[in-house]
Amino acid sequence: MKLNPKIFRYLSNEDFRVLTATEMGSKNHEVVPTTLISSISGFEGGIKNIISDLARNNLISRGQNIKYDGYRLTYGGYDYLALRAFAKRGMVGSVGRQIGVGKESDVYVVCDDSGKECVLKLQRLGRISFRAVKNKRDYLKKRKSASWMYLSRLGATKEFAFMNLLYEHGFPVPKPLDHNRHCVLMELIDGFPLHQVSRIDCPEVLFSDLMELIVELARCGLIHGDFNEFNILIRNSDHKPVVIDFPQMVSTSHPNAEYYFERDVNCIVTYFKKRFNFESLSVPEFKKDGCKNVFKLDVKVEASGFSRKQAKELEIVNL
Ligand code: ADP
Ligand code: MG
Repeated sequence: MKLNPKIFRYLSNEDFRVLTATEMGSKNHEVVPTTLISSISGFEGGIKNIISDLARNNLISRGQNIKYDGYRLTYGGYDYLALRAFAKRGMVGSVGRQIGVGKESDVYVVCDDSGKECVLKLQRLGRISFRAVKNKRDYLKKRKSASWMYLSRLGATKEFAFMNLLYEHGFPVPKPLDHNRHCVLMELIDGFPLHQVSRIDCPEVLFSDLMELIVELARCGLIHGDFNEFNILIRNSDHKPVVIDFPQMVSTSHPNAEYYFERDVNCIVTYFKKRFNFESLSVPEFKKDGCKNVFKLDVKVEASGFSRKQAKELEIVNL
């Protein structure tokens, strides 16, 4: 799913009103009846042209095989609404190159109004696997109508909440800048993902920095859950690691905490052996190093707007 920055610039206020109305309507309708879009947006007539423009630009799409005339919001439409919110706050003035494409996110470099570069991450949760998930559990039954939207928003909310806390507590993570819907804005790290770094002078120093990070996180009650060479950036200025990608973080009180902790450790151990031919004599263990929490950041994150219930809902996507 590509962002279309051109649309971002040329849509009118009327388009925006109709798009917002479709978003609101989709809280209760999988396909929002055109009559409802019309009444929420407050336009008496003339909505047909706006709707067909939006559909042509792929921001909404017409419902198929239903007995009424209606539309659903697309990812493109949802992207646009988030971008518009950032633009209003001066946080995004233009969209630049794409730097990451994942199964579950798209990542772009964007500029704010002052021309400063930062990173926009758009969550794409539920894009592929939601049908399977839906059949397995019923947590999300009530939200069937807007499941991908809901899950993607949840992912971004979680990422922003964790990034804020980690940043405040001095962890090497990008500075979180803003959050809207399924999107997070953060500092652009000038560096390379570890998987692109072919040579390092002192693998043992980087290795111990990374192990220390895993242990420090656990002492704060947290496990990254996807601690690998794609989610560790090596900063150009000081060659130190910066950790990214937090939607799957878990608490050390999670029933499978030991498994996740050790999986994070082993990921790095295996990678260092394969890539840098480096093997360490000792590695951290959950029982010894990981489960004696000093700061309860896992509890704190709940207070910051990401609840345990939401965490559970999100977990089913990662099953
Ligand atoms: P995903 O969930 O798709 O793995 P990530 O948060 O890991 O998303 O981002 C994908 C890629 O985008 C990363 O591997 C990295 O190359 C790049 N990236 C993400 N955030 C930043 C950032 N703050 N600074 C620089 N590059 C980033
Ligand atoms: Mg990643």
